[in-house]
Amino acid sequence: MNTQSTGIHHISSMVKDPQRTLDFYGQVLGLRLVKQTVNYDDPGMYHLYFGDEVGTPGTIITFFPIPGIGQGQVGSGQVGVTAYLVPPGSLSFWEGRLQEQGVQTVATERFGEASLLFEDPDGLVVELVERDSSKRTKWHVAGVSGEEAIVGFAGATLLSKDPEGTVRLLTELFGFERLEEDEEWIRLKGSADYGNIIDVKKTVLPNGVPGAGTVHHIAWRVADGEHYATWQDAIFDLGLRPTEVRERNYFQSVYFHDTGRILHELATDVPGFQIDEEIEELGQELQLPSWLEKERAQIRQSLPPIVIPKGEHK
Ligand code: ZN
Repeated sequence: MNTQSTGIHHISSMVKDPQRTLDFYGQVLGLRLVKQTVNYDDPGMYHLYFGDEVGTPGTIITFFPIPGIGQGQVGSGQVGVTAYLVPPGSLSFWEGRLQEQGVQTVATERFGEASLLFEDPDGLVVELVERDSSKRTKWHVAGVSGEEAIVGFAGATLLSKDPEGTVRLLTELFGFERLEEDEEWIRLKGSADYGNIIDVKKTVLPNGVPGAGTVHHIAWRVADGEHYATWQDAIFDLGLRPTEVRERNYFQSVYFHDTGRILHELATDVPGFQIDEEIEELGQELQLPSWLEKERAQIRQSLPPIVIPKGEHK
């Protein structure tokens, strides 16, 4: 089958303030801003991408900062927790670093794995999970060593209006394995090394309300765009409605809602973030796709100025 996904490509969320988001993800959590561009569907707002040193699929979190947006509410039809993988033994470091920044943390556990739960400045629920991985990031910010730095996503929890339907989508269409189950969660595993553990909540919560501090959609890895027609047919056969293929410049995308109201995206691993910037320059300047270049001056004017967090590629 040509409809398999190895794991998460990126997760996109809504926030209020671009600078606050840059400071938190780029400085406190130590991720690299790999691209500053605009929302292609609404170019009056930024679209900020953070990840490892090059924004490898499975490490990418993206934000749409919308200054006037209301506070959202996490619930059914959304990603519940965005989970990052950190090296074993690093959670106490992160607990200290977050608390120094005034971020309250809760030590917790799911399926025997220790994790630290907290909210970003907009109330987005984020988790750091200790898990072995051979991957280390090559992006470094002051105060975070390579043995502590976030590797990429651990995975995510999904709050579905139809938990079994969401599980079927991930197992039967995406090829995830059903790993284990407790009273609260069904754990699924994709074949990637990170961004591959998905916990689907078995109980149905009240519907989520979109807004600041909530995830807009979760994107899954597809090697390239070659098999999109097969994917679209397979999604259609499940009674779901895939969009046409959309050009996102750094990847190509197809979107659809599952039976549990969750908005999914399929996103290609290629071409990636180095098509319009050298590796050392990633994220430094506003990048626009060719079809928006002619509107650069207007777009620039509508966007608040931002200060890019500092870090080192080594
Ligand atoms: Zn997306």
